[in-house]
Amino acid sequence: MSGAAILQDHKRYFHTGATRPVEWRRGQLQALLRLLTEREDTLTDALEKDLGKSRTEAFISEVALVRAETDYALKHLDRWMAPAKVSVPLGLQPAKAWTQPRPLGTVLIIGPWNYPLQLVLAPLVGALAAGNTAVLKPSELALATSSVLAELVPQYLDRSAVTVVEGGVDVSTDLLAQPFDHIFYTGGERVGKIVMKAAAEHLTPVTLELGGKSPAVVVCGDLKAAARRIAYGKFMNAAQTCVAPDYILTTPAAAPALALALSEAVREFYGSDPQTSGDYGRILNDHHFDRLVTLLGDGTVVAGGRHERSDRYIEPTILRDVDPASPLMQEEIFGPLLPILEVEDLDDAIRFIGERPHPLAAYLFSDREEHLDVFTEQVQAGGIAHNVCTIQLAVPGLPFGGVGASGTGSYHGRQSFDTFSHLQPVFSKPTAVDTLRLAYPPFGALKRKL
Ligand code: NAD
Repeated sequence: MSGAAILQDHKRYFHTGATRPVEWRRGQLQALLRLLTEREDTLTDALEKDLGKSRTEAFISEVALVRAETDYALKHLDRWMAPAKVSVPLGLQPAKAWTQPRPLGTVLIIGPWNYPLQLVLAPLVGALAAGNTAVLKPSELALATSSVLAELVPQYLDRSAVTVVEGGVDVSTDLLAQPFDHIFYTGGERVGKIVMKAAAEHLTPVTLELGGKSPAVVVCGDLKAAARRIAYGKFMNAAQTCVAPDYILTTPAAAPALALALSEAVREFYGSDPQTSGDYGRILNDHHFDRLVTLLGDGTVVAGGRHERSDRYIEPTILRDVDPASPLMQEEIFGPLLPILEVEDLDDAIRFIGERPHPLAAYLFSDREEHLDVFTEQVQAGGIAHNVCTIQLAVPGLPFGGVGASGTGSYHGRQSFDTFSHLQPVFSKPTAVDTLRLAYPPFGALKRKL
């Protein structure tokens, strides 16, 4: 079926009004929860197949996160949908004014391969909560997850309202040519630009969830604790995580101890040979494997560095002596290479970050309150986290999204509902007392008074 035909069917269904009642929205969210619970094994199997993710990690970082988002939406839906009264200036009274969230219509959700389940279904939670119909295009690079979604979604959700379309660039291009009411894209910057250009043809609004180089700054405090949390955030999913710390900035005095603490944390998590650990993932494909192995040459490997192409395995690797102008520091690494760069102090680190495109996340490790305040105040990033990496995503009340080069718009929790709604203003004035007549032309009398 072509993109045009799919969209036409969706629009027809949307215009019946079937998706607007709160009962329909609740029913869909509950059905999604059932899918995630009853078919958890099928879903985690697919994720294991696509990315070598351990089932536990797949559950925590994908299934559980979407479940939490769905629970949160169900809990708050009535409040989100409620009209909000707005005060009316005296001169326009008697009258009433309010805002009323309305669904946008039919939305297109395009997902990437690195969290191929979560990054398609978490936006869907917002789209359904807001009463839209949705076309989902999972990444063709995570084939097992894409085909499981195509099989299971119609078994649980309203088939007229949610369609999974499988395929690669051709399919995406065809869908992007259609006049959807919103496009929600997660992936890299290059394709983000293609999406935005295609959307401009129809003036379709977009949410772009992109990536970038997210820094972790370590200035003072418990270095071992910092190392454990950075290693956890970085090496999960073999570091193919959009908010993974991309590089570390620390002082020359702390750098050697931090490098050692990081390699100890890696050993604690994955053993002395991570290749044999069931908890450590693999690189998506040969293209990314080769790209990462080339980047290994951009610094001195102080821990890790082993790799095997036939297994697409790259050991968690710490690098020092890295030139900020090298490719390793110019492109998003998106793999298990962690460069440590040296800065004089916190101010120098903030300057370093500020001279580069706004990252999706910025992390600060420090036990001094004033450091946390200065960093939060001065660093512009999609999100900030103190003394922890990546898990800020699991707080449904916090909006998630980038700024500048790391993305446009945000979602999660209430923000997802708002992203997929139009906040429609309504102004209602009775005709019985026509107070407006004072302002009708001819303006002769009014002009004299003003
Ligand atoms: P990808 O290659 O899977 O592409 C994403 C989607 O775009 C896929 O569905 C694909 O079919 C489609 N696509 C690819 N080429 C296209 C084209 N020419 N025209 C139209 N559609 C096309 O994913 P990726 O880009 O490799 O994903 C990795 C990137 O995503 C990283 O930069 C990462 O930081 C970012 N990311 C961001 C988030 C976030 O939430 N902000 C989450 C995960 C990943």
